[in-house]
Amino acid sequence: MKIRVLGSAAGGGFPQWNCNCHNCRRLRLGEMRAQARTQSSIAVSSDGDHWVLFNASPDVRTQLQAFPAIQPRQGVRDTGIEAIILIDSQIDHATGLLMLRESTVPLDLYCSDAVRQDLSTGFPLLEILKHYCGIRHHGIPLNGGGFAIPNVDDLRFYPHSLKSKAPPYSPHRHDPHDGDNIGVTIEQLSSGSKLYYAPGLGEIESHVYASMREADCLLVDGTFWREDEMERAGICDKPARAMGHLPQSGAGGMIEVLNTLDRPRKILIHINNTNPILDENSDERAILDSAHIEVSHDGMEICL
Ligand SMILES: [Zn+2]
Ligand SMILES: [Zn+2]
Repeated sequence: MKIRVLGSAAGGGFPQWNCNCHNCRRLRLGEMRAQARTQSSIAVSSDGDHWVLFNASPDVRTQLQAFPAIQPRQGVRDTGIEAIILIDSQIDHATGLLMLRESTVPLDLYCSDAVRQDLSTGFPLLEILKHYCGIRHHGIPLNGGGFAIPNVDDLRFYPHSLKSKAPPYSPHRHDPHDGDNIGVTIEQLSSGSKLYYAPGLGEIESHVYASMREADCLLVDGTFWREDEMERAGICDKPARAMGHLPQSGAGGMIEVLNTLDRPRKILIHINNTNPILDENSDERAILDSAHIEVSHDGMEICL
């Protein structure tokens, strides 16, 4: 299985256009050993020709331009993108669908009913796209069953629901539904290798932990280092967990969880621009290094 990290940052990217935090400022001034990052998305393939996008980032155009394997090869209009899976209906994960409107065929979109509803009402992307390429929506199972995608026959996808909150524009913002947010295990049938992808993980429920334990590789929530990171940066007073993201440090944090797993390669994704791990010379980055936890970057390629 081939995995390409198209974008490794959380919403806003790194640096964020209006952010003057310790990280964004130092990156702009060239005072920090760090890489700029686009907003979170990955592409997965078995044969290197037919790809499934996980999330459609507002930065998708830049991301595809940096990735020749997914670019047109034949005819006047062509793409290596076979389908798109959305893990939720957040702006930084879904807006890229609008940038794909030139598609000559309806986009094959796999998402939960809750996400489809959000994107048809509060944030009506799917209605807008009816005037362009259109969407072919495919429902996804949330009961442990897997599904397949045509032309990507060697991969099977097993989504499950995560505890989280729907976006502010969702009609059920204050009434959580299964499928507001999902994690996905991707299995390559020919090799048996498994990737677990969950860029937003607020709580390690037992089914989440079971999937993490069975995976060969984890691409999981790297948003915040500290529970009070946004407050310390002077941005807002929302704790990390209240925003649906388990911080890396502290009791019950992501590092503690990952340290209990022997098997998988461990990689963080969806990293917020306030997170000190973005600084490759930071003490926090050294702590990850000693725990054998990697930090994904735009353009990273993983072979399983
Ligand atoms: Zn996000
Ligand atoms: Zn910042």
